[in-house]
Amino acid sequence: MRPSSLTPLFKDATTLPGIGPKLGKLLSAFTGDKIIDLLHHLPSNLIDRQYRPPLDEAEDGHIATFEVEVVKHEVPPRRNLPYRILCRNDSGFLSLLFFRARGDWLTKAMPEGATRIVSGRVERFRDNLQIVHPDHMLPKPAFEALPIIEPVYPLTAGLSAKILMKAIQAALPDLPKLGEWQEPTWLEQQKWPSWQEAVALAHRPEALDALDPQHPARARLAYDELLAHQLVLALVRRQRRQMAGRAYPEIGVLAQKLGTLLPFALTGSQEQAVADIRTDMAEPVRMLRLLQGDVGSGKTVVAVISMLQAVESGAQAALMAPTEILARQHAETVGPWLDALGVSWQLMTARNKGKLRKESLAALAQGEVQIAIGTHALFQDDVVFADLGLAVVDEQHRFGVQQRMALSSKGEGVDVLVMTATPIPRTLTLTAYGDMDVSRMPDKPAGRLPIDTRVISMDRYSDVAQGLGNAMREGARIYWVCPLVSESELVDLAAAEDRAKDLQKLYGSKVGLVHGQMRAADKDTVMAQFVAGEISILVATTVIEVGVNVPEATVMVIEHAERFGLAQLHQLRGRVGRGLEKSSCVLLYRGPLGETSKARLSIMRDTEDGFRIAEEDLRLRGAGEVLGTRQSGLPLFRLANLEAHADLLPAVHDDVKLLLERDPQLDSLRGQALRSLLYLFRRDEAIRFLQSG
Ligand code: ADP
Ligand code: MG
Repeated sequence: MRPSSLTPLFKDATTLPGIGPKLGKLLSAFTGDKIIDLLHHLPSNLIDRQYRPPLDEAEDGHIATFEVEVVKHEVPPRRNLPYRILCRNDSGFLSLLFFRARGDWLTKAMPEGATRIVSGRVERFRDNLQIVHPDHMLPKPAFEALPIIEPVYPLTAGLSAKILMKAIQAALPDLPKLGEWQEPTWLEQQKWPSWQEAVALAHRPEALDALDPQHPARARLAYDELLAHQLVLALVRRQRRQMAGRAYPEIGVLAQKLGTLLPFALTGSQEQAVADIRTDMAEPVRMLRLLQGDVGSGKTVVAVISMLQAVESGAQAALMAPTEILARQHAETVGPWLDALGVSWQLMTARNKGKLRKESLAALAQGEVQIAIGTHALFQDDVVFADLGLAVVDEQHRFGVQQRMALSSKGEGVDVLVMTATPIPRTLTLTAYGDMDVSRMPDKPAGRLPIDTRVISMDRYSDVAQGLGNAMREGARIYWVCPLVSESELVDLAAAEDRAKDLQKLYGSKVGLVHGQMRAADKDTVMAQFVAGEISILVATTVIEVGVNVPEATVMVIEHAERFGLAQLHQLRGRVGRGLEKSSCVLLYRGPLGETSKARLSIMRDTEDGFRIAEEDLRLRGAGEVLGTRQSGLPLFRLANLEAHADLLPAVHDDVKLLLERDPQLDSLRGQALRSLLYLFRRDEAIRFLQSG
């Protein structure tokens, strides 16, 4: 039950002045439709209304505020001329101009002879001082109710700045006093205000530094949000550890046999990851482990060894990939190994339909299939496993915390291994994956040749295009990636089509095209031609999937490299350098490049270490941009900014750890306040993991 002290904050936004049902609906999609959601919508800008010069001294172009008397209205003789209201005070005259104005509204708001406060950007036009469409024209008391430093909020179509500000201002006097959930000595040390004060200050700033992330109000609110998030992750993690899982003894016969089939020995990183996973699986506790390893670090083998451990104990295992192409590729690599080991397996994707699907489902339900490989089709409601013991999720950055939870509910005590090739900086790992145990695989399989990376201006396009001919004569397979330029996939497609046509002029039918709008079967055909070498140059929009493996591919050309994120460039480059031949990567950019873009492209040239690239990217662009929720699985914060508030993260982690040691069920006074905090940030689902209190 939500504490009653929070009730006023969870009233509908429509109870605020100016917010009708229509705006309420708009808000519910934009900020959320409760008062607390509006309070969590922080200003992104400020307007200073403190500048109140005499009219004859007002500076052109400044936002200024004046107390004036309305002299007269001048209705325009023609539609395309502005409506004008002439005002004055002791220091001069001021014209207010309105284009396409409704006169009746203006006469009501600004009756002749009345005194009004007007505020807006002033212009000097010839000798006249004027304001076009003033921001405010109010009687004195109404104006004084507004903050003198006015918050400006991010908006969406259909939502006006003024209405939003007024609604939020109206909510401020009724903020409930809540119990303090932050540690008193910490709070004192930081000189942070209480929650109520912080919210009020954030929306009613007293000085122009109010937007600074280190401002006490902003920092306090950021800490609150990070604290709520970390607390939930810690509770979820603790809950999972208390839940019975199954213990899979380390038999290891199948794994050993697999070892004899593989043409290589495991790297130190792979050995370590396998050991971590084996230990987890052998314990009667549910595993939820993240395997972080760069593209090409060899995560698949680790997944297979883990699945064999489940199979050996008579359970089933599933390997889920985010796309059809990747699922098929897994089946192609892993299938022959499993066949050789006598383990039954099946590919299940959305393309299995009708009778085939029915048969597959039956085989899974009866336990005839030991390992299922597929897409999320594997986790549809009608898919029933006889006894699922381990679920492996590849390229986990496409799944969020919710999906992680849903996945493990597919069986009793299912162990879950998630794998990602998006290395995220160490400082952010806990924030994104605090509910999981993490294994990192920093080394790459031995003998891998470095990729020769060059940064080249698009001015030299024809040299680059010509140069491919040499590589092709030596049998090279080449990717040519065209970026996401526009919001529209069709426009991007056009760019890729043009590029393909251009290259076809040089190389004819050796050039193929693959893009997101193609039917899956057609995509597969083109990919197969590329693998078989019938096509040597594959022009692609960014659909070349993260894990696609064509060891023969040795050249990667990325057009408009400056438009990609570093993580994405790194992923793309990882498509080559997988075979025995030396590979190269050409980053084509269109200048002029800014400092940051230059620095980013040089990092790509200087290193292939994904973890280092992630750290540098974080430094250069900030967490939000670099990682984005979709890319990384990082949660989206509204009050905290992972870049600006990164220094708070260690404190939050320590805080949560100590807190749960001292007050595991959140029973103390502070514990009770923390429960409120979880409600406040809509993270109360974790409260069910606590005993009632
Ligand atoms: P990723 O981590 O990107 O999923 P993969 O599992 O696809 O990487 O492995 C990339 C390639 O490296 C595959 O061809 C795989 O067979 C090979 N590989 C994996 N482990 C080793 C190893 N220890 N030594 C040599 N090659 C390896
Ligand atoms: Mg992979």
